Amino acid sequence: MSEENATNSASASEEPAAAGNAETSENQSPMDLLQSLLKKFSLTSETEEDVEPPEKLLDELSVTGVANYILSEKCKNIVVMCGAGISTAAGIPDFRSPGTGLYDNLQKYDLKNPTDIFEITYFKKNPQPFFTLAKELYPGNYKATVGHFFLKLLEDKGKLQRVYTQNIDGLERVAGVDGEKIVEAHGTFYTNQCVDCKRSYSKEWMKEKIFKDEIPYCEDCKEGTSGLVKPDIVFFGEALPQRFFNLRYDDFQACDLLIVMGTSLKVQPFASLVGGVDAKTPRLLINRELCGETDPMMLMMGFNSGMDFESEKAYRDVALLGDCDDGCKDLCEKLGWLEDLLKLVADGDKQNENTTDDVTKKTDTEDKMDSKLSLETPTEKVSEKKNDPEQSNSPNL
Ligand SMILES: [Zn+2]
Repeated sequence: MSEENATNSASASEEPAAAGNAETSENQSPMDLLQSLLKKFSLTSETEEDVEPPEKLLDELSVTGVANYILSEKCKNIVVMCGAGISTAAGIPDFRSPGTGLYDNLQKYDLKNPTDIFEITYFKKNPQPFFTLAKELYPGNYKATVGHFFLKLLEDKGKLQRVYTQNIDGLERVAGVDGEKIVEAHGTFYTNQCVDCKRSYSKEWMKEKIFKDEIPYCEDCKEGTSGLVKPDIVFFGEALPQRFFNLRYDDFQACDLLIVMGTSLKVQPFASLVGGVDAKTPRLLINRELCGETDPMMLMMGFNSGMDFESEKAYRDVALLGDCDDGCKDLCEKLGWLEDLLKLVADGDKQNENTTDDVTKKTDTEDKMDSKLSLETPTEKVSEKKNDPEQSNSPNL
């Protein structure tokens, strides 16, 4: 009803082309017309003319502005989204880059694309490449970075609502962040199950198999199934963990500041999370390049949940370009927290040296692999939907 009135009064004004009336379409561009239609059918909630600009929470659009805000009473719950960029300083190899040892190791398996490793159909036929990668990436092989300790620092300061990570390296836990504070959106090596009967296996059980270069088979499953046991890493076409769906709505609603670190926000549904916070909630990007910006086409249509760092309407998004570690140090310096951060890093290093238990020595994964290549191809019982890796959830390494 009020929608109807608004439309009528708007069309009675002197700006027919800008009004939400599809009937007076003579002078409208196709985009205006589309926007009018969307507005009329409530597919888009607002345009700038009829909405008050959201409250501006940052005193300036800069890293200093973000630091001032973090130190204020208004900023209690910080949500962090992180991706591969937070782990590059740890030396985690990019298995997609030719020339790295890992990529070359995997080439002998004749993978059409390195990401086939995360195709469940491929895995059931030939699990060896995945377990080669798993051995390489297994938690314990790599040290946490400054960026990971920054997460721990936010937790210690009582400001961390949750970390949403795309990484499967487990380095958030290595840095000491409480498991309750982490959502491993693309899964984890900490739990494992049989791909057929879903029986669970412990981390220790799996670790032993992986480091002995044995393919882990279910102790219950009989012939006729693959009986493979797989860490709960999310493969293409697999659903994200239930924990992701259980927590994301409340976390992003409660979020006072969103920090996006080391991800180019290309993988869905993870990338869409940036739009899940309130319209006034400030967002800080720490990354090598800008990303997550509003698609101009979507903006014209009235959907505006992407980041806006540079336009004259920018009011809450700040970019800190560079490596994650440098960005975190820079921010901590402005917060007066740099000493605390460096102490966490130093303590972590010390602990690492003293721990012999979980730090498994890296071994040359090339050994013994050839003998495993003649695995019987298991009967394919389930036909899996093959998803486009760009569109699908994918483990981000
Ligand atoms: Zn089983």
